[in-house]
Amino acid sequence: MRHTHISINQTALTHNLAVIKRHAPHASVMAMVKANAYGHGLAHCLPALMDADAFGVASFDEALRVHEICGHLSKRIILMGGVLDKDEWFDAQTHGFECVIHCQTQLDWALSHLVPMGSPTGTIWLKYNTGMNRLGFGDDVLTAAKLLDNKGYRLILISHFACADDKDHPTNALQIKRFNDVLTILKDKYGNDIQGSLCNSAGIINFPHAHHDWVRTGIALYGASPVMGSDIHELNLLPAMNFSTQIFAIHELNAGETVSYGGVWMANKPTRIGVLSVGYGDGYPRTQNDAKVLITKDDGAYLAPIVGRIAMDMMMIDITNLPVGVGDMVMLWGDGLPADNVARWANTISYELFCKTTNRPHRRIIV
Ligand SMILES: *Cc1c(COP(=O)(O)O)cnc(C)c1O
Repeated sequence: MRHTHISINQTALTHNLAVIKRHAPHASVMAMVKANAYGHGLAHCLPALMDADAFGVASFDEALRVHEICGHLSKRIILMGGVLDKDEWFDAQTHGFECVIHCQTQLDWALSHLVPMGSPTGTIWLKYNTGMNRLGFGDDVLTAAKLLDNKGYRLILISHFACADDKDHPTNALQIKRFNDVLTILKDKYGNDIQGSLCNSAGIINFPHAHHDWVRTGIALYGASPVMGSDIHELNLLPAMNFSTQIFAIHELNAGETVSYGGVWMANKPTRIGVLSVGYGDGYPRTQNDAKVLITKDDGAYLAPIVGRIAMDMMMIDITNLPVGVGDMVMLWGDGLPADNVARWANTISYELFCKTTNRPHRRIIV
């Protein structure tokens, strides 16, 4: 068996949720579990996130899976993209899923197919485009709100930051102002029980005055940094995913010999190479620059550089002069080596690394 593992640390997930709750003590917290809990696996994550007030998913089929796993524990489930056709609108009501409404077509379904009073689906998350320019109503959000309020729906105004990770980006202040202005108008017109939800993980940390009634946290739950310039240790977050493998072969190179496909890496001195049983087929990014792995031994921890092209099943590291050998465990990202570092080496973001892990590594839970 290949000793390549993705371990999900439930204690870390629960800890991270508690950290976020301390950042937003007056808001309800929606745990974002779309894309199979950012690649971590819904079944392994949901039990550790039961302190969340709701779960956020992208689509109806994702909501169904969350619903199945939560079973009798009734949890609010919100479809961030709303429904895609009229049948889904009915199905969402049957299951008690709450919908975002971001466009006229969805608005028409809600207005012409009312839900019973008091049903959870009587809550509409009305999407207002404050600057992301992806989904949502513009100024016509006021008309949409009026029509929905007339039909008896409860409203939560929702919007999404484009640049919240970069605290000083000018778009943030603009989005916060637009959001506050419309929410104030809606409360004046239709009552103070209209709620608001603006912040993702980065917004929760960077803009404590913009939390409103609901915050939506994703990446922070999984223990990667949502904000530029702060690492997870400063933020008191713990990695939820440990992606690890082992050295399963070693060989010695003479100066002038190359490693792996294309022969693009050449030893400039006698070099000891460790072969790892992991590659892009497991979700490790094939393209990266100066990436390293972490090998922890009783007498210390060693960073070893990846050398040569990463293959589907294997990759090679330079272990010259390191006291390591066949069978030693190697951390790709997780405890001791944050996914944020690997993301930088791979010129991407932690979100993408997590989502692109495959089902090939053996998945297990740490409690
Ligand atoms: C995914 C998502 C979030 C969570 O974002 P993070 O940066 O992972 O905290 C929040 N809101 C919406 C609408 C999302 O799609």
